Amino acid sequence: MTHTAHAQRVAIVTGAARGIGAAVAKRLARDGLAVGVVDLNEAECAGTVKAITSNGGTAAAVAADVADETAVTAAVAQIASELGSPTVLVNNAGIGGPDVGVAEMTTQQWDAVTGVSLRGAFFLTRAVSPHMVAAGWGRIINMSSISALGDSGRADYASAKAGLIGFTKTLALQLGRQGVTANAIAPGFIVSDMTRTSARRRGRAFEEHQRLAAQAIPVGRVGQPEDIAHTASFLASPGAGFLSGQVIYVAGGPVD
Ligand code: NAP
Repeated sequence: MTHTAHAQRVAIVTGAARGIGAAVAKRLARDGLAVGVVDLNEAECAGTVKAITSNGGTAAAVAADVADETAVTAAVAQIASELGSPTVLVNNAGIGGPDVGVAEMTTQQWDAVTGVSLRGAFFLTRAVSPHMVAAGWGRIINMSSISALGDSGRADYASAKAGLIGFTKTLALQLGRQGVTANAIAPGFIVSDMTRTSARRRGRAFEEHQRLAAQAIPVGRVGQPEDIAHTASFLASPGAGFLSGQVIYVAGGPVD
């Protein structure tokens, strides 16, 4: 491909087959970016890619387990060659395990949950940031959670999401002079398969789970993936260049 063919800005969104990641990928494509849609399984990315391309956008499906360093290196190289040098990175992939006390948590669960959110964000950022530095411009967006402030039964998830905040602030310090900003989004309750699974684990119907959650949210409703996509779009925009190292809580109210 020629340099002109690569003039469009390129974003990578992980965990973009569904949920928040899919909404972010579609929104960034609508904003004019070409999007590398990364998820565990390439076929699962097809829905997001189709939604983007049928709207006139550009996207490529790339399979990678973000916790696998070799797969991440290959995925970033593939996106760079298919779409161009990535300068927007949304580290969105994340999983939760069953709620258990710390004494009952298995090493395997701890490693799996922290591996996707934290190691995954590290691997992607390490592979993508040189592209941003070379371009003299970049936007890193890490998907944290209000669970970073403590979440009973989820020591693994809370630690991974809090770790992402330290990671974000450090990236902002390290890369600011190269034109790269780094921010974290900390969503509250968002309707997705992740919250559907939480409802199931608590033995509640999803409607009831949402109703109970909405009661505790000041704006009186639960969040939708598009609420997060809107924030990601803003953070990725050229006008957000003086905003870095911040955690934006998108939770329908203040959190403590
Ligand atoms: P989701 O519906 O479960 O989607 C997560 C996506 O990530 C899935 O497509 C999943 O693929 C993919 N994924 C999982 N492990 C991966 C890996 N190792 N490598 C690549 N992709 C992987 O979750 P969501 O609710 O959209 O959550 C997105 C992010 O927001 C997560 O980081 C989550 O912690 C965070 N968050 C969510 C909420 C909420 O209320 N939903 C609140 C706060 C923060 P498979 O389908 O193949 O597993």
